[in-house]
Amino acid sequence: MNRVYLKRKITNRIASGHPWIFNNEVEKVEAEINAGETVEVFTHDKKFVGKGYINPKSQILVRLLTREKKEDINEQFFFNRLVQCREYRKKLGYIENCRLVFGEADSLPQLIVDKFNDYFVIQTLSLGIDRWKPAIVKALNEIFNPKGIYERNDVPVREMEGLPQQKGFLSDPFNTQITINENGLQFYVDIENGQKTSYFLDQQDNRRSIQHIVKDAEVLGSFSYTGSFEIHAAKYGAKSVLGLDISNSAVQQAMRNAELNGVQDICRFETANAFDVLKQWAKEGKQYDVVMLDPPAFTKSRETIQNAITGYKEINLRGMKLTKPGGFLVTSSCTSLVSPELFLQIIDMAAKDARRKIRQVTFQTQSPDHPVIRGIDNTHYLKFLIVQVQ
Ligand code: SAH
Repeated sequence: MNRVYLKRKITNRIASGHPWIFNNEVEKVEAEINAGETVEVFTHDKKFVGKGYINPKSQILVRLLTREKKEDINEQFFFNRLVQCREYRKKLGYIENCRLVFGEADSLPQLIVDKFNDYFVIQTLSLGIDRWKPAIVKALNEIFNPKGIYERNDVPVREMEGLPQQKGFLSDPFNTQITINENGLQFYVDIENGQKTSYFLDQQDNRRSIQHIVKDAEVLGSFSYTGSFEIHAAKYGAKSVLGLDISNSAVQQAMRNAELNGVQDICRFETANAFDVLKQWAKEGKQYDVVMLDPPAFTKSRETIQNAITGYKEINLRGMKLTKPGGFLVTSSCTSLVSPELFLQIIDMAAKDARRKIRQVTFQTQSPDHPVIRGIDNTHYLKFLIVQVQ
């Protein structure tokens, strides 16, 4: 196996367990590199660090899969890891729907597997993990005997690894419009055409957090996608719910979901650009008891982080203005580039500009089937905040 030697002074990050090894942290590679192959990593004085996969096209040269010298990287390795992933979720009570594999947080860098009951959606986001796709599919078949497996590798990050964007079946074809249960509700999930892996499982617990505040309330939900927060609000006793999303197909799916749950008389959905509409309605003095915001990431890179800050501030400012005194703002941010501390600062700035006082009700993160690993910052990505707006 090819060997990679780190520079004399290795960073604390690698020493304390972070799985990424950047190009500039490597002193030398023993033999010629075959992109995607498994390599052994050593310190400059030949102490074993771990095994992982290598890609010279990527700034992250090696991503470690194990720190155990005895552990071989083969089909059995992936089978064992997937069993561990399942056991962890089971232990925490995630049996039906969950993120089964959350990449680095499960020591399977750049692998995402979402489980929607008997159906699985996978993403292999780097070359090194993509090569193991057949082993991963085989293990999923052996462990879960699924009704279907689908690949949603239609994501731009793959191109940075020299991989094509693609999607399709990794099992016999099946009807990709499935129905899932969540918190006693039902939702259509479009595995083939939905956004990302098709459904946002990371908010599944947070959706329950709105239970009491939406009772008898007039609710506005922005960035509603297929309506999961909005339909929860209706089920929890809201008087009326309006959901907005810029994607017409998401709005259509949200309306079907409202019907599926028998709340079509309470829930309406409209196609709209939230930035325009929230601004306009705030100007007109419209107000709601509860305003919910769950925008997309706004930025993917550190260079454009200011765009994200400006975007979050803008919509939260509008959201607060649209909240009746004593009402509630339910607000999220899903980019790991905006830390929880920074997110709270942005909310404080928005409150100051809106001239409203806010009282924090709860501040949460993604559901525990997406574990946060201390020291791997990008595993702690979702911020979910409820404030009372006075
Ligand atoms: N709340 C949803 C997830 C929202 S994802 C859930 O729990 O499932 C973010 C959504 O924002 C996407 O559906 C996207 O179509 C929508 N979106 C992006 N930009 C928008 C804009 N300017 N106005 C309204 N919606 C927007």
